[in-house]
Amino acid sequence: MKNIFLMLAIFAILSGCSQKKADLILYNGQVYTVNEKFDVVEAFAVKDGKILATGSTDAIRSAYSAPESIDLEGKAVYPGLIDAHAHFMGYGQSLQSADLRDTKSWAEVLDRLREFAASHPDGWLIGRGWDQNDWPDKHFPDNTDLSTLFPKRPVFLERIDGHAALVNKKAFEAAGITKSFALTGGDIVEEKGRLTGLLIDNAVGLVEHKIPPPDAKQLRQILSDAEKNCFAAGLTTIDDCGLDFEVVDLIEKMHQDQSLKMRLYVMLSDADKNYDYLFKRGAIKTERLNVRSFKVYADGALGSRGACLLHPYSDMPSKTGFLLSDKKHFEEVARKINAHGFQMCTHAIGDSANRSVLKIYNEVLGSKNDKRWRIEHAQVIAPSDFDLFGKTSIVPSVQPTHATSDMYWAADRLGAERVKGAYAYKQLLEQNGWLPLGTDFPVEQINPMLTFYAATIRKDANNYPKDGYQMENALSREQALRGMTIWAAKANFEEKEKGSLETGKLADFVISENDIMKVDPQHILKNNILKTYLNGEKVYERR
Ligand SMILES: [Zn+2]
Repeated sequence: MKNIFLMLAIFAILSGCSQKKADLILYNGQVYTVNEKFDVVEAFAVKDGKILATGSTDAIRSAYSAPESIDLEGKAVYPGLIDAHAHFMGYGQSLQSADLRDTKSWAEVLDRLREFAASHPDGWLIGRGWDQNDWPDKHFPDNTDLSTLFPKRPVFLERIDGHAALVNKKAFEAAGITKSFALTGGDIVEEKGRLTGLLIDNAVGLVEHKIPPPDAKQLRQILSDAEKNCFAAGLTTIDDCGLDFEVVDLIEKMHQDQSLKMRLYVMLSDADKNYDYLFKRGAIKTERLNVRSFKVYADGALGSRGACLLHPYSDMPSKTGFLLSDKKHFEEVARKINAHGFQMCTHAIGDSANRSVLKIYNEVLGSKNDKRWRIEHAQVIAPSDFDLFGKTSIVPSVQPTHATSDMYWAADRLGAERVKGAYAYKQLLEQNGWLPLGTDFPVEQINPMLTFYAATIRKDANNYPKDGYQMENALSREQALRGMTIWAAKANFEEKEKGSLETGKLADFVISENDIMKVDPQHILKNNILKTYLNGEKVYERR
């Protein structure tokens, strides 16, 4: 008996001495590794920005020592969340304009503008999202107050649908617009011989195009602002779906001088200058930036009936939508991208647009492959076309919140039968066995909890519809978490370095207030990220 105690004591001393050094230890938690087996462990150690080991609290604490240890107190940890489809810079830009959505009166619009102008004192004052139908007085406002309040700054306030705007005197001056200005396809409204400030359709662009594009300093601010909010939401990698190479150059600079830390997967926009740039330079890959793909638009959106359908819209039989370019353009681009070994990502919403892109991809790719060409949104698919995804390993890249945003009117547009092939995430997942998830922010909110909820529960925040929307296409919670981590990483060719918490991978992870894998649905939406780590460094803490 004595011998056993002696041996245990010696073992304890030896193992104490042989403790390996780590930078950070987290223990006593529910750590979702999102590895192949979806193992949940209690603890892990981090060193040099990477995961050193995962395991039980006892095993990790006895094998490693670190200057900092965190008792997770049972809290859940997930790999850093990845948004496979968003507009990071566009979101940052949206933060530079006053949010006028859900205002209850014109007076409230003015209040919000005053507040916003105080914190954004320079240049054009821009606001977006007003809707006079939400106000007691449903007439369009005029610009008298705007010109008085802001005599020296041009003001541009876009209506929620983008088809109307209200501008002040200074903005008219900047745009060189005077009374009786002639244009086609729009209206500069005049009443009793004076400009009211209201612009309709093409007149909106007339003034909007005079707003100077952000300079380098403003762009840096835009990207930093976007990063701050995204870290707070638990995002550690974001796919920006469509930038020009000049912005990529700036992001690279910001990564180098460490004014930007967010990991970005950038698709370059479908423009000659971007093809020339990347074909010449070759793919860009650092720890925080990955550029190897191009973003192409096949059609528009369902809400505005710009999505290209095989058969007319159910609520407007004169329309079927249209492709944004000739099919020949998509073919040429596909061959060019393939010849250079890059990834093609095409926005397709309508079943006709999806069929066109699927056919072109199938022709160019030929058979199963590992080129991971993506269809962004893959929103409405004809029943006979689903198989075309699996046939040549085409990746559907979907945004679950689109389903719960569109569910109120999608059946009006598509009819009861056709809508069954829309937002069909489960069916799409079955094609290749994996499915990346995103949000398309700023079209939707940045919060990944909304994605998780929409993918699994398929309801809105008011518990509508009672039994969930087209639940045959709901994902399981495990599938949704994979879609927001390892499968999103895979869509970016990064599954070997991130997307799960395994030895050797990047230490990108979040500590969550609740365990979204287990809590009641209503707690998913309200769930907060408590801390976000990127590369083993804490980049956000909730206060
Ligand atoms: Zn998008």
